[in-house]
Amino acid sequence: MRHRLDAVRDAFDGFTILTDRSDVRWASGFSGSSGWLVVGPQSATLVTDARYTERAIEESKDFGVDVLTVKAPSSIFSEVSRLTKGHVVGCRSASISHETWTNLTSHGIRLVEQDVTNLRRVKDPSEIETIARAAAIAAEALYETLPMIDVGVSERDIRDELDHRIRRLGGDGPSYDTIVAAGPTNSSIPHHAPSHHRLAEGEALVIDVGALVDGYHSDMTRTFFVGEVSDVLAAWYKVLLEAQEAGLATVRAGVSARDVDSACRTTLGGDAEFFVHGTGHGVGLDIHEHPFLNQTSQATLAVGEVVTVEPGLYRRGFGGIRIEDLVVVRDESAEILTSFPKDLTCLPSRRTT
Ligand code: ZN
Ligand code: ZN
Repeated sequence: MRHRLDAVRDAFDGFTILTDRSDVRWASGFSGSSGWLVVGPQSATLVTDARYTERAIEESKDFGVDVLTVKAPSSIFSEVSRLTKGHVVGCRSASISHETWTNLTSHGIRLVEQDVTNLRRVKDPSEIETIARAAAIAAEALYETLPMIDVGVSERDIRDELDHRIRRLGGDGPSYDTIVAAGPTNSSIPHHAPSHHRLAEGEALVIDVGALVDGYHSDMTRTFFVGEVSDVLAAWYKVLLEAQEAGLATVRAGVSARDVDSACRTTLGGDAEFFVHGTGHGVGLDIHEHPFLNQTSQATLAVGEVVTVEPGLYRRGFGGIRIEDLVVVRDESAEILTSFPKDLTCLPSRRTT
Protein backbone atom coordinates (compact mmCIF):
# COMPACT_ATOMS: atom_id res chain seq x y z
CA MET A 1 0.00 0.00 0.00
CA ARG A 2 3.01 2.31 0.27
CA HIS A 3 2.72 3.05 -3.45
CA ARG A 4 -0.18 5.37 -2.69
CA LEU A 5 2.03 7.56 -0.49
CA ASP A 6 4.64 7.55 -3.26
CA ALA A 7 1.98 8.72 -5.71
CA VAL A 8 1.18 11.64 -3.37
CA ARG A 9 4.92 12.46 -3.12
CA ASP A 10 5.40 12.25 -6.90
CA ALA A 11 2.46 14.56 -7.51
CA PHE A 12 3.75 17.40 -5.35
CA ASP A 13 7.23 18.59 -4.52
CA GLY A 14 7.14 19.21 -0.78
CA PHE A 15 4.62 18.38 1.88
CA THR A 16 0.99 17.51 1.32
CA ILE A 17 -1.77 17.41 3.93
CA LEU A 18 -4.75 15.19 3.28
CA THR A 19 -7.81 16.19 5.31
CA ASP A 20 -10.70 14.66 3.35
CA ARG A 21 -11.85 11.42 4.93
CA SER A 22 -11.72 9.45 1.67
CA ASP A 23 -8.31 10.86 0.74
CA VAL A 24 -6.97 9.93 4.19
CA ARG A 25 -8.44 6.44 4.02
CA TRP A 26 -7.05 5.82 0.54
CA ALA A 27 -3.52 6.85 1.48
CA SER A 28 -3.33 5.53 5.07
CA GLY A 29 -6.08 2.92 5.54
CA PHE A 30 -7.49 4.90 8.46
CA SER A 31 -11.29 5.00 8.34
CA GLY A 32 -12.07 7.16 11.37
CA SER A 33 -13.80 10.50 11.15
CA SER A 34 -11.00 12.52 12.72
CA GLY A 35 -7.58 12.34 11.13
CA TRP A 36 -5.22 14.27 8.90
CA LEU A 37 -2.38 12.76 6.97
CA VAL A 38 0.80 14.81 6.58
CA VAL A 39 2.94 13.41 3.77
CA GLY A 40 6.52 14.60 3.40
CA PRO A 41 9.36 13.48 1.12
CA GLN A 42 10.61 10.98 3.73
CA SER A 43 7.72 10.70 6.14
CA ALA A 44 4.00 10.27 6.51
CA THR A 45 2.23 11.06 9.76
CA LEU A 46 -1.38 10.36 10.57
CA VAL A 47 -2.52 12.92 13.13
CA THR A 48 -5.59 11.90 15.10
CA ASP A 49 -6.99 12.16 18.62
CA ALA A 50 -7.13 9.73 21.52
CA ARG A 51 -10.49 8.29 20.46
CA TYR A 52 -8.85 6.82 17.38
CA THR A 53 -5.24 6.06 18.27
CA GLU A 54 -5.54 2.27 18.39
CA ARG A 55 -7.75 2.05 15.34
CA ALA A 56 -5.36 4.30 13.41
CA ILE A 57 -2.36 2.13 14.32
CA GLU A 58 -4.22 -1.05 13.35
CA GLU A 59 -5.68 0.17 10.09
CA SER A 60 -2.57 1.92 8.84
CA LYS A 61 -0.02 -0.78 9.58
CA ASP A 62 0.48 -1.78 5.91
CA PHE A 63 0.61 1.78 4.65
CA GLY A 64 3.93 3.02 6.03
CA VAL A 65 2.64 5.85 8.18
CA ASP A 66 3.37 6.94 11.76
CA VAL A 67 0.47 7.72 14.06
CA LEU A 68 0.53 10.84 16.20
CA THR A 69 -2.14 11.59 18.80
CA VAL A 70 -3.00 15.19 19.64
CA LYS A 71 -4.63 16.00 22.97
CA ALA A 72 -6.74 19.00 21.94
CA PRO A 73 -8.26 19.50 18.48
CA SER A 74 -6.71 22.96 18.23
CA SER A 75 -3.18 21.60 18.64
CA ILE A 76 -3.40 19.95 15.22
CA PHE A 77 -2.36 23.26 13.65
CA SER A 78 0.86 23.54 15.62
CA GLU A 79 1.60 19.85 14.96
CA VAL A 80 1.19 20.34 11.20
CA SER A 81 3.40 23.42 11.44
CA ARG A 82 6.06 21.41 13.28
CA LEU A 83 5.87 18.46 10.86
CA THR A 84 6.09 20.55 7.69
CA LYS A 85 9.01 22.67 8.94
CA GLY A 86 8.27 25.82 6.96
CA HIS A 87 7.98 24.07 3.60
CA VAL A 88 5.26 24.84 1.09
CA VAL A 89 2.29 22.59 1.84
CA GLY A 90 -0.17 21.28 -0.74
CA CYS A 91 -3.77 20.98 0.39
CA ARG A 92 -7.11 20.50 -1.32
CA SER A 93 -9.03 23.63 -0.36
CA ALA A 94 -12.39 22.02 -1.12
CA SER A 95 -11.69 19.49 1.63
CA ILE A 96 -11.35 22.02 4.47
CA SER A 97 -13.34 25.00 5.65
CA HIS A 98 -12.20 28.53 5.07
CA GLU A 99 -11.77 28.80 8.85
CA THR A 100 -9.39 25.83 8.89
CA TRP A 101 -7.41 27.15 5.94
CA THR A 102 -7.05 30.50 7.77
CA ASN A 103 -6.04 28.74 10.99
CA LEU A 104 -3.31 26.83 9.17
CA THR A 105 -1.90 29.94 7.50
CA SER A 106 -1.98 31.85 10.80
CA HIS A 107 0.31 29.11 12.17
CA GLY A 108 2.84 30.06 9.50
CA ILE A 109 1.96 27.21 7.15
CA ARG A 110 2.33 28.21 3.48
CA LEU A 111 -0.59 26.49 1.75
CA VAL A 112 -1.05 26.00 -1.98
CA GLU A 113 -3.84 24.21 -3.81
CA GLN A 114 -3.11 20.53 -4.38
CA ASP A 115 -5.87 18.12 -5.40
CA VAL A 116 -5.02 14.48 -4.73
CA THR A 117 -8.40 13.13 -5.81
CA ASN A 118 -7.17 12.41 -9.33
CA LEU A 119 -4.64 10.00 -7.80
CA ARG A 120 -7.58 7.89 -6.60
CA ARG A 121 -9.04 7.52 -10.10
CA VAL A 122 -7.19 4.36 -11.11
CA LYS A 123 -8.07 1.55 -8.73
CA ASP A 124 -5.67 -1.24 -7.82
CA PRO A 125 -6.87 -4.87 -8.01
CA SER A 126 -7.82 -5.00 -4.32
CA GLU A 127 -10.00 -1.90 -4.70
CA ILE A 128 -11.68 -3.31 -7.82
CA GLU A 129 -12.33 -6.57 -6.00
CA THR A 130 -14.02 -4.70 -3.14
CA ILE A 131 -16.15 -2.60 -5.49
CA ALA A 132 -17.13 -5.74 -7.43
CA ARG A 133 -18.22 -7.33 -4.15
CA ALA A 134 -20.31 -4.28 -3.31
CA ALA A 135 -21.90 -4.39 -6.79
CA ALA A 136 -22.69 -8.10 -6.44
CA ILE A 137 -24.33 -7.54 -3.04
CA ALA A 138 -26.54 -4.74 -4.40
CA ALA A 139 -27.56 -6.87 -7.40
CA GLU A 140 -28.40 -9.80 -5.15
CA ALA A 141 -30.38 -7.53 -2.82
CA LEU A 142 -32.41 -6.36 -5.82
CA TYR A 143 -33.02 -9.95 -6.96
CA GLU A 144 -34.25 -10.86 -3.51
CA THR A 145 -36.50 -7.80 -3.32
CA LEU A 146 -38.21 -8.27 -6.69
CA PRO A 147 -40.87 -10.77 -5.60
CA MET A 148 -42.42 -8.28 -3.17
CA ILE A 149 -42.69 -5.51 -5.74
CA ASP A 150 -46.25 -5.17 -7.03
CA VAL A 151 -49.24 -2.87 -7.13
CA GLY A 152 -49.92 -1.36 -3.70
CA VAL A 153 -46.38 -1.60 -2.35
CA SER A 154 -44.89 1.77 -1.41
CA GLU A 155 -41.57 3.19 -2.55
CA ARG A 156 -40.41 3.25 1.07
CA ASP A 157 -41.31 -0.40 1.59
CA ILE A 158 -39.09 -1.32 -1.36
CA ARG A 159 -36.30 0.96 -0.14
CA ASP A 160 -36.41 -0.57 3.36
CA GLU A 161 -36.31 -4.10 1.96
CA LEU A 162 -33.33 -3.32 -0.29
CA ASP A 163 -31.38 -1.64 2.52
CA HIS A 164 -32.10 -4.51 4.90
CA ARG A 165 -31.04 -7.13 2.37
CA ILE A 166 -27.81 -5.30 1.58
CA ARG A 167 -26.83 -5.64 5.24
CA ARG A 168 -28.02 -9.24 5.44
CA LEU A 169 -25.86 -10.07 2.40
CA GLY A 170 -22.73 -8.72 4.07
CA GLY A 171 -22.70 -5.10 2.97
CA ASP A 172 -22.01 -2.36 5.53
CA GLY A 173 -25.19 -0.62 4.38
CA PRO A 174 -26.53 1.18 1.34
CA SER A 175 -23.91 3.11 -0.59
CA TYR A 176 -26.13 6.21 -0.69
CA ASP A 177 -29.79 6.95 -0.04
CA THR A 178 -31.43 4.22 -2.12
CA ILE A 179 -33.67 5.69 -4.81
CA VAL A 180 -37.06 4.11 -5.47
CA ALA A 181 -39.19 6.27 -7.75
CA ALA A 182 -42.47 5.23 -9.33
CA GLY A 183 -45.12 6.87 -11.45
CA PRO A 184 -45.34 9.94 -13.65
CA THR A 185 -44.35 12.45 -10.97
CA ASN A 186 -41.72 10.63 -8.93
CA SER A 187 -39.84 8.68 -11.62
CA SER A 188 -39.29 11.89 -13.58
CA ILE A 189 -37.12 13.21 -10.70
CA PRO A 190 -33.60 11.75 -11.17
CA HIS A 191 -32.80 11.81 -7.42
CA HIS A 192 -36.25 11.29 -5.95
CA ALA A 193 -36.41 10.46 -2.24
CA PRO A 194 -38.66 7.39 -1.67
CA SER A 195 -42.15 8.42 -0.55
CA HIS A 196 -45.33 6.74 0.66
CA HIS A 197 -46.50 6.55 -2.98
CA ARG A 198 -47.88 3.10 -3.74
CA LEU A 199 -47.16 1.41 -7.05
CA ALA A 200 -49.99 1.38 -9.58
CA GLU A 201 -50.60 -0.27 -12.94
CA GLY A 202 -48.79 1.26 -15.88
CA GLU A 203 -46.09 2.99 -13.86
CA ALA A 204 -42.38 3.05 -14.48
CA LEU A 205 -40.33 2.14 -11.42
CA VAL A 206 -36.75 3.37 -11.14
CA ILE A 207 -34.52 1.70 -8.55
CA ASP A 208 -31.02 3.11 -8.01
CA VAL A 209 -29.19 0.99 -5.46
CA GLY A 210 -25.60 0.47 -4.30
CA ALA A 211 -23.86 -1.24 -1.42
CA LEU A 212 -21.03 -0.06 0.79
CA VAL A 213 -18.21 -2.53 1.51
CA ASP A 214 -15.07 -1.56 3.44
CA GLY A 215 -15.57 2.07 2.51
CA TYR A 216 -16.06 1.37 -1.20
CA HIS A 217 -19.28 2.11 -3.06
CA SER A 218 -21.23 0.53 -5.87
CA ASP A 219 -23.91 2.10 -8.04
CA MET A 220 -26.59 0.57 -10.27
CA THR A 221 -29.99 1.59 -11.64
CA ARG A 222 -32.67 -0.54 -13.20
CA THR A 223 -36.10 0.47 -14.47
CA PHE A 224 -39.13 -1.83 -14.25
CA PHE A 225 -42.67 -1.54 -15.52
CA VAL A 226 -45.67 -2.27 -13.36
CA GLY A 227 -47.96 -4.17 -15.73
CA GLU A 228 -48.64 -2.67 -19.14
CA VAL A 229 -47.15 0.76 -19.80
CA SER A 230 -47.89 3.25 -22.55
CA ASP A 231 -46.33 2.72 -25.98
CA VAL A 232 -44.31 5.91 -25.52
CA LEU A 233 -42.78 4.67 -22.28
CA ALA A 234 -42.00 1.29 -23.86
CA ALA A 235 -40.38 3.02 -26.85
CA TRP A 236 -38.38 5.21 -24.49
CA TYR A 237 -37.00 2.16 -22.76
CA LYS A 238 -35.90 0.66 -26.05
CA VAL A 239 -34.00 3.75 -27.16
CA LEU A 240 -32.55 4.29 -23.68
CA LEU A 241 -31.20 0.75 -23.54
CA GLU A 242 -29.61 1.24 -26.98
CA ALA A 243 -28.08 4.50 -25.78
CA GLN A 244 -26.75 2.93 -22.60
CA GLU A 245 -25.22 0.07 -24.56
CA ALA A 246 -23.69 2.52 -27.03
CA GLY A 247 -22.13 4.31 -24.04
CA LEU A 248 -20.81 1.04 -22.62
CA ALA A 249 -19.40 0.04 -26.02
CA THR A 250 -17.45 3.31 -26.14
CA VAL A 251 -15.72 2.79 -22.79
CA ARG A 252 -12.11 1.70 -23.06
CA ALA A 253 -8.71 3.09 -22.11
CA GLY A 254 -7.68 6.16 -24.10
CA VAL A 255 -11.22 7.29 -24.92
CA SER A 256 -12.30 10.72 -23.74
CA ALA A 257 -15.02 10.72 -21.07
CA ARG A 258 -16.88 13.20 -23.23
CA ASP A 259 -17.09 10.70 -26.11
CA VAL A 260 -18.92 8.22 -23.88
CA ASP A 261 -21.45 10.92 -23.07
CA SER A 262 -21.74 11.82 -26.76
CA ALA A 263 -22.36 8.18 -27.72
CA CYS A 264 -25.38 8.07 -25.40
CA ARG A 265 -26.74 11.43 -26.60
CA THR A 266 -26.32 10.63 -30.29
CA THR A 267 -28.14 7.31 -29.93
CA LEU A 268 -30.99 9.01 -28.07
CA GLY A 269 -31.50 11.30 -31.08
CA GLY A 270 -34.49 13.58 -30.59
CA ASP A 271 -35.09 12.22 -27.10
CA ALA A 272 -31.70 13.54 -25.92
CA GLU A 273 -33.45 16.72 -24.75
CA PHE A 274 -34.95 14.61 -21.93
CA PHE A 275 -31.51 13.37 -20.80
CA VAL A 276 -30.89 16.07 -18.23
CA HIS A 277 -27.70 14.94 -16.48
CA GLY A 278 -24.23 13.68 -17.35
CA THR A 279 -23.61 10.09 -18.46
CA GLY A 280 -21.55 8.98 -15.50
CA HIS A 281 -18.98 9.43 -12.76
CA GLY A 282 -16.14 7.64 -11.09
CA VAL A 283 -16.96 5.44 -8.08
CA GLY A 284 -14.63 4.43 -5.27
CA LEU A 285 -14.30 5.63 -1.70
CA ASP A 286 -16.71 8.37 -2.77
CA ILE A 287 -19.91 7.63 -4.64
CA HIS A 288 -19.25 10.52 -7.01
CA GLU A 289 -15.59 11.07 -7.85
CA HIS A 290 -13.30 11.72 -10.80
CA PRO A 291 -13.55 11.12 -13.69
CA PHE A 292 -16.90 12.63 -14.63
CA LEU A 293 -18.40 11.61 -17.97
CA ASN A 294 -20.19 14.61 -19.45
CA GLN A 295 -19.89 17.20 -22.20
CA THR A 296 -17.52 19.47 -20.25
CA SER A 297 -15.21 16.70 -19.04
CA GLN A 298 -11.53 16.93 -20.00
CA ALA A 299 -10.80 13.41 -18.71
CA THR A 300 -9.39 10.57 -20.76
CA LEU A 301 -10.32 7.14 -19.44
CA ALA A 302 -7.50 4.94 -18.12
CA VAL A 303 -7.18 1.24 -17.34
CA GLY A 304 -8.44 0.49 -13.82
CA GLU A 305 -10.82 3.40 -13.48
CA VAL A 306 -14.28 2.46 -12.23
CA VAL A 307 -17.09 4.53 -13.73
CA THR A 308 -20.85 4.49 -14.26
CA VAL A 309 -22.73 4.70 -17.55
CA GLU A 310 -26.21 5.92 -16.67
CA PRO A 311 -28.26 7.75 -19.25
CA GLY A 312 -31.85 8.53 -18.29
CA LEU A 313 -34.91 10.17 -19.79
CA TYR A 314 -37.21 12.34 -17.67
CA ARG A 315 -40.34 14.27 -18.50
CA ARG A 316 -42.27 15.95 -15.71
CA GLY A 317 -45.74 14.55 -15.30
CA PHE A 318 -45.05 11.77 -17.80
CA GLY A 319 -42.39 9.70 -16.11
CA GLY A 320 -38.73 8.86 -16.09
CA ILE A 321 -36.43 5.91 -16.72
CA ARG A 322 -32.72 5.30 -16.12
CA ILE A 323 -30.35 2.42 -16.72
CA GLU A 324 -27.01 2.44 -14.92
CA ASP A 325 -24.10 0.05 -14.91
CA LEU A 326 -20.83 0.21 -13.02
CA VAL A 327 -17.80 -0.79 -15.09
CA VAL A 328 -14.04 -1.12 -14.93
CA VAL A 329 -12.17 0.55 -17.79
CA ARG A 330 -9.99 -2.03 -19.54
CA ASP A 331 -7.64 -1.79 -22.54
CA GLU A 332 -10.18 -2.83 -25.13
CA SER A 333 -13.55 -2.60 -23.42
CA ALA A 334 -15.58 -2.04 -20.28
CA GLU A 335 -15.78 -4.85 -17.72
CA ILE A 336 -19.28 -4.71 -16.28
CA LEU A 337 -19.57 -5.19 -12.49
CA THR A 338 -23.36 -4.84 -12.26
CA SER A 339 -24.63 -8.10 -13.66
CA PHE A 340 -28.35 -7.57 -13.09
CA PRO A 341 -30.29 -8.04 -16.39
CA LYS A 342 -31.59 -5.00 -18.24
CA ASP A 343 -34.10 -6.69 -20.52
CA LEU A 344 -36.42 -7.70 -17.69
CA THR A 345 -38.54 -4.60 -17.39
CA CYS A 346 -41.52 -6.79 -16.45
CA LEU A 347 -41.52 -7.59 -12.75
CA PRO A 348 -41.41 -11.31 -11.88
CA SER A 349 -44.44 -10.83 -9.64
CA ARG A 350 -46.41 -9.68 -12.71
CA ARG A 351 -45.50 -12.52 -15.01
CA THR A 352 -48.41 -14.67 -16.09
CA THR A 353 -46.51 -17.48 -17.83
ZN1 ZN B 1 -26.96 5.45 -9.27
ZN1 ZN C 1 -24.44 7.00 -10.47
